[in-house]
Amino acid sequence: MSVELPEACILAEQMNTELPGKKVQTIQIRDYERMQRIGFMNKDLNGYDRLVGGTVKSITSRGNTVLTRLDNGMNLLIAPEYGGKVLYHEDGGSATAKYHLRLDFVDGTALTVRLTSMGVIQAVDDEGLEGSYVYRRDFSDKLSPGDEEFTSEKFAGLLVERNRQLKQVLVGKDAVVVGLSNSVFQDVLFRAGLHPRRKASSLDEDEVRSLHGAIVALVRERLRLGGKDRFQDLHGSQGMYVPAMGPNMKGQPCPVCGTGVERLSIGGGQVYLCPECQK
Ligand SMILES: [Zn+2]
Repeated sequence: MSVELPEACILAEQMNTELPGKKVQTIQIRDYERMQRIGFMNKDLNGYDRLVGGTVKSITSRGNTVLTRLDNGMNLLIAPEYGGKVLYHEDGGSATAKYHLRLDFVDGTALTVRLTSMGVIQAVDDEGLEGSYVYRRDFSDKLSPGDEEFTSEKFAGLLVERNRQLKQVLVGKDAVVVGLSNSVFQDVLFRAGLHPRRKASSLDEDEVRSLHGAIVALVRERLRLGGKDRFQDLHGSQGMYVPAMGPNMKGQPCPVCGTGVERLSIGGGQVYLCPECQK
């Protein structure tokens, strides 16, 4: 149910079809104490109350974060990176979804947001956006694989002289691009035939091109298939993209060459790979 770059993009597009022009009538928050304690929700609940009365202007996404802007200077940041559900309810009255935050609109429709793992649901005013970690990280001037400017040449320029392993260069807070998760990383490296322990600076031109191509192709495929297989979109439809590499492949034969898939611990996480196809 993780919401990563492609899924955040799907949600933002769907929300942008349904929500602009709708005025928030009431908000409800539930089971927030734990979420608040671990920093996933506002420390001051008053932030959510300030959404009331605002009309939705626009919804955009960047990296793993969906940003909803209201006309009263407030913003809702949603980033259920490791799991969550964002659902739109045409008939708010009969909505039964579990949620942490629920917005009811004046026209009787509703939006519910629920985290099922690590993630963020924050209400912040325009001045407070920069204070949000996910906003700073994803709405930064770093390139995103979803940007048109994300060309092979620009990507090559970011990798040159990076004497670090590809995982650190592509995933996490020091990454040279936004929005790539461990799950995307594993599939991308498998497609590009690169070993996850390779250093960025060791890649030749063809390898950089193939890595860039794999990132772009993977993001497009996940968008086309409605997201990853356990993701649910705004209307509750299930995604169809099945990751090529991941815990489901442990001990299984590589789909290309039949060699047993291996697991390595890299950069504080597990990476699955085919030792034969990835060099
Ligand atoms: Zn293989």
